[in-house]
Amino acid sequence: MKKIDNYTDGKIVKGSSSNYIPVHNPATGEIISEVIQSDTKDFENTVTSSVKAFENWSQVTPLKRSRIISKYKELIEKDIESLAKLVSLEHGKTLDDAKGSVTRGLEVVEFACGIPHLLKGEFSQNVGTDIDSWSVRQPLGVTAGITPFNFPAMVPMWMYPISIACGNSFILKPSEKDPSCSLRLAELFSEAGLPDGVFNVLNGDKNSVNLILSDKRIHSISFVGSTPVAKYIYETAAKNGKRVQALGGAKNHLVVMPDANLDQAVDGIMGAAYGSAGERCMAVSVAVAVGEIADKMIENISNKAESLKVAPWTDSSAQMGPVISKEHKEKIENYIDLGVKEGAKLVLDGRNLKIQGYENGYFVGPTLFDKVTKGMKIYKEEIFGPVLSVVRANNYDEALKLVNDHAFGNGTSIYTSDGELSRHFTTNCKIGMVGVNVPIPVPMAFHSFGGWKQSLFGDHSMHGVEGVRFFTKLKTVTSRWPKSIAKGPEFKMPTN
Ligand code: NAD
Repeated sequence: MKKIDNYTDGKIVKGSSSNYIPVHNPATGEIISEVIQSDTKDFENTVTSSVKAFENWSQVTPLKRSRIISKYKELIEKDIESLAKLVSLEHGKTLDDAKGSVTRGLEVVEFACGIPHLLKGEFSQNVGTDIDSWSVRQPLGVTAGITPFNFPAMVPMWMYPISIACGNSFILKPSEKDPSCSLRLAELFSEAGLPDGVFNVLNGDKNSVNLILSDKRIHSISFVGSTPVAKYIYETAAKNGKRVQALGGAKNHLVVMPDANLDQAVDGIMGAAYGSAGERCMAVSVAVAVGEIADKMIENISNKAESLKVAPWTDSSAQMGPVISKEHKEKIENYIDLGVKEGAKLVLDGRNLKIQGYENGYFVGPTLFDKVTKGMKIYKEEIFGPVLSVVRANNYDEALKLVNDHAFGNGTSIYTSDGELSRHFTTNCKIGMVGVNVPIPVPMAFHSFGGWKQSLFGDHSMHGVEGVRFFTKLKTVTSRWPKSIAKGPEFKMPTN
């Protein structure tokens, strides 16, 4: 059985732990490899290497760091096909979708190439007579990231390129469900000239996370995953004196107004609800149909979803692959059972889907519920599968209230041809990322990604300028030259 170990000091190293966690191919259900469950010795090796690497790396000029990152960008571009295959093999998403996700991560690498510009400080001449003042941003030290299964390339790349560009060293703890892509990304960074130990990968599950959270030598935690774990990470890391950004789960609403272009709205909903089998934190899991548009909208979604091609990633015509695990498939199917019990109308049932030749794969078909109401668990909780709930609202105010009253606040979108109404929506919705006639409003690398409410714990979103702020400490210097110093001590607060 293939063993997946850690990446420490510029190479893959066999760990000291003898415990390994099985990694599955979700399309077949087979165990394809095993990933190390790092023990305290593996952790110690990783942190020691990261602490040492930081000393030199933080002294390398931003321009030289940028040149290495630029080279890294080229290497990822050359390797994109094989990186995407690693994602598809262990995650199950279609190859095109996997390639798209690597590209979105690559855009953060591109952004990080501009680090000399991004780290430019502020300067004020004569803040007092003959006194100048300037602010600089300095790196934190050893930083760490803990990432989810659903974007094994893109989500880590929201974090480490910026942290490393800022002069930090970075320890990545990838999801134990699909760890291979991270190791390849680390190898490519070394090939680009990154000094050993600046980027280490420590594999394992929550035990490795707990070691990271309690170690004083690690100064910040970037987390992306489910809300209960995000909350735990935020509280524990903050208690241990670390800076934290912890992104959680979602229940994204897409509002369709009666004046929307229905074909566009339905196409948008199809990709956003069923793409990547609904396992995206920006997936649309609730469509709010306003007024008389509901019946036609549901009929159109149902017709399209019925003919959606569900197949393994090796089939180039696949539009949707399996979900991540047997347990997750069962969880999704239990939610479908629950929706029926709660009284929602099951228009399309994705349970018991069997794909010929892949009978043991973790496939769930596209599922559509109508007449979902806000008291139902299938409305309140994140299902994270290809299950779309349609809620009917009488008017815009009711739709906006649904969006704002929901516990999650990651993304939302409105389809309408009314500019004034869309402006009201973007201004008044209590959500971090908002779209107008765009189904999945994921910000580009040079903006920042992050939700509100139960979707983000901490003060900083990821990447963009927010990322640079998160991964640096602000220092402000006030200075004058000795000859200009006034004679004698001053006991009052200086005011000029
Ligand atoms: P998860 O919370 O189960 O795991 C995320 C990471 O935390 C993994 O590395 C895992 O090993 C670790 N972990 C799991 N349980 C832990 C525990 N008890 N203590 C400490 N560490 C623990 O999430 P997942 O199932 O891998 O990913 C899916 C979730 O991630 C969904 O809820 C999805 O909405 C969310 N997500 C959010 C965003 C966002 O930007 N807000 C992006 C992608 C995914």
